[in-house]
Amino acid sequence: MEQSAVLETMGETLAGKRDISHRVFVNKSVTLENIKCYGFDMDYTLAIYKSPEYEGLGFEMLRDRLVSIGYPHELLRYSYDPNFPTRGLLYDSTYGNLLKVDAHGNILVCSHGFIYLTGGEIQEYYPNRFIQRDDTERFYILNTLFNLSETYLYACLVDFFTSSTRYQNCSQGFKHGDLFMSFKSMFQDVRDAMNYLHDTGSLKERTLKNLEKYVIRDPRIPELLSRIKNVAKVFLATNSDYNYTEAIMKYLLDSPSGSKNPRKSWRSYFDLVVVDTRKPLFFAEGTVLRQVDTNTGKLRIGTYTGDLQHGTVYSGGSSDIICDLLDVRGKEILYVGDHIFGDILKSKKRQGWKTFLVVPELAKELQVWTEKFSMFEELRQLDIYLAELHKHLDSGIVSGPDIGLIHSKIKKMTYTMDLCYGKMGSLLRYGSIKTLFASQLLRYADLYAASCLNLLHYPITYLFRAPSVLMPHESAISPQHSQELPISNLSPNHTHRITSLQRLCQCDSDNCGQDNCAQDNAAIRMET
Ligand SMILES: [Mg+2]
Repeated sequence: MEQSAVLETMGETLAGKRDISHRVFVNKSVTLENIKCYGFDMDYTLAIYKSPEYEGLGFEMLRDRLVSIGYPHELLRYSYDPNFPTRGLLYDSTYGNLLKVDAHGNILVCSHGFIYLTGGEIQEYYPNRFIQRDDTERFYILNTLFNLSETYLYACLVDFFTSSTRYQNCSQGFKHGDLFMSFKSMFQDVRDAMNYLHDTGSLKERTLKNLEKYVIRDPRIPELLSRIKNVAKVFLATNSDYNYTEAIMKYLLDSPSGSKNPRKSWRSYFDLVVVDTRKPLFFAEGTVLRQVDTNTGKLRIGTYTGDLQHGTVYSGGSSDIICDLLDVRGKEILYVGDHIFGDILKSKKRQGWKTFLVVPELAKELQVWTEKFSMFEELRQLDIYLAELHKHLDSGIVSGPDIGLIHSKIKKMTYTMDLCYGKMGSLLRYGSIKTLFASQLLRYADLYAASCLNLLHYPITYLFRAPSVLMPHESAISPQHSQELPISNLSPNHTHRITSLQRLCQCDSDNCGQDNCAQDNAAIRMET
């Protein structure tokens, strides 16, 4: 470990923690000193859309599109409610329900329109209160911030048709005369409407017409990129097209005319700009890499095969091509994005990149957690009490203690706590259970924060150290017990086999100081 990194870790301990809103949280250790290249996504990562204005715009455009293809005009009565949707919900296209689930598919919360189903009602739809969440034909994960408006629209549609006297409620949809509208066809119509908004560029057009209303211009973005560019390579990889990227990045990064700073183009902040990346495909086989004519926004014909040219914008390509062009290895890249699947899971799983997930909801999650921590503590105490009741029982006991009252207290507390976050609850937990989104965040994001700008609060050589987490069997042993481990019970032969051949240190540095470093010693065998 570099000395500067050690000092920074100690510095944080000694000087106390940073302001919680400025913190970057660590799942897996990352030493910034080893990062040679930083990659950024654009939408909801560098370009933060104003909430709820932007989701409200998306909702209205989707709703209006449905009405224009024949959905009832009464739908126009609905307007976006930011308190309802939570990211990471699943839409069940068979029954029209919105589901909040854990990592394994156990159902935590279920709503049909705006009606929340009780445990018994959930059981009727889903025996075992469990779904096969890999069934992507049936269950659609609403994982991105772009999906929030869509999530709310599903609830509005179910609410409208359920309460309308013109339609007859059926288990898998609604009947109107000879017509049957299934939840599945409703889902397809909303998806088509979403694709229509993206493909025609109408949402982008409305956004660009009123950038001040929909996009946050933060002077710290050019500051962050400039600081990083002094020590590492920087690239932008966005699924957006060139014209939209150009307009947004200009708004965020170009020095305004008349400012004291010399005029600087947004492209000068990056070593490489890639648009139309089609993530997650970009992290697998990718698409053809083409050059973009920045004067016209049109693509040049043919595949680009030359070296990296500064200021050139490319379209398509793949993560492998990016590594070649920038001459970096996957482990030397820290990729910053907001999409748990398209940006983080795929770049980590397929390419081994270091990952930084932007979770804008974290600001609210932290605020609620701080204000309502006593509720979580109470929940924890109930859990402990429940365990204590069973502590001294063994297999000779036929009937256990009566735990009905504690269970209902736990349920009530979990429900009350979840409502503090919004109508569908927290993005990350339900009482003491983590959501599917939280489990993916823990597994695939090395670092996460409410904003990528939080990196400004750490030196560029920083060691982000993951807290050490013990496995349940390890945490069951107190330090006092560990002294008493019966190592002497191992046979002499066994002990000899363990110690006769020591594993070499496999660090990447030339000389880490360990006397069995593989880099220094081709083979060290220490006979006992
Ligand atoms: Mg994004």
